[in-house]
Amino acid sequence: MTTELLLAYLTGKMKMATKETSSVKSAEAAARLKKILPRLEKAHPDAKLDLDYKNPLELLIALILAAQARDDLVNQITADLFKIHQSAAHYATTPLPTLETQIGKINFYRTKARSIHNCCQHLVDRFAGKVPDNLADLLSLPGVGRKTANILLGNVYGQQTIGVDTHVSRLSQRLRFTKNTDPDKIEADLMAIVPGKQRVRFCHLLQYHGRRVCLAKKPNCPACMIRELCPFPHKTKPIVGTLSSSIRHRS
Ligand code: SF4
Repeated sequence: MTTELLLAYLTGKMKMATKETSSVKSAEAAARLKKILPRLEKAHPDAKLDLDYKNPLELLIALILAAQARDDLVNQITADLFKIHQSAAHYATTPLPTLETQIGKINFYRTKARSIHNCCQHLVDRFAGKVPDNLADLLSLPGVGRKTANILLGNVYGQQTIGVDTHVSRLSQRLRFTKNTDPDKIEADLMAIVPGKQRVRFCHLLQYHGRRVCLAKKPNCPACMIRELCPFPHKTKPIVGTLSSSIRHRS
């Protein structure tokens, strides 16, 4: 797979073919989710997007850098990057080798630098340097997939979208909110059962629950606050120190 194809897949631009068609029973899932949400809220009141940003352009750049990379590393890089570049035009006119050096600590830095460069050139040419506030225009930008677009719309434009990242995908399947594995189908299943005003919050809560308690390989079921509402309440024995030693990953 070329680096361009790999980045397109990582950022959700490319959709892998899947055969899933059936989903869970929506009414049962919606009723269970309604009970799960307040419990997650109580357990993770600090849940939020862990990328640092102050405006739509900064979040867009951070999300491109965050593909298959840790949020804390992205934040380290953007702390300096955002001081150097304060507009899409500045990114677009910076020589590519310079941009590559500025983000050199991140994985796939050459591909990501090219994505940032191309994306910002499109912002300048087609949107007067502004990050669009609608899905169709966002998806027309190079390096921007559905996950990135939805996270942007939800977190900077106040739209109740669902960005299907690793944690949202994995926990939605584990909690039987969906039987699908294709991100677009998962998004559709979740849009049908998550209350309209709680969709962005739902994503933040699943991300924190996935990092702190319901880890991919060793979920801490005995300490889980939604255990009675989970279809898999006995996956593991207790893990000492799980809450304090969570590792934060985004894809
Ligand atoms: S009970 Fe276990 S599998 Fe279910 S959500 Fe909690 S930690 Fe995850």
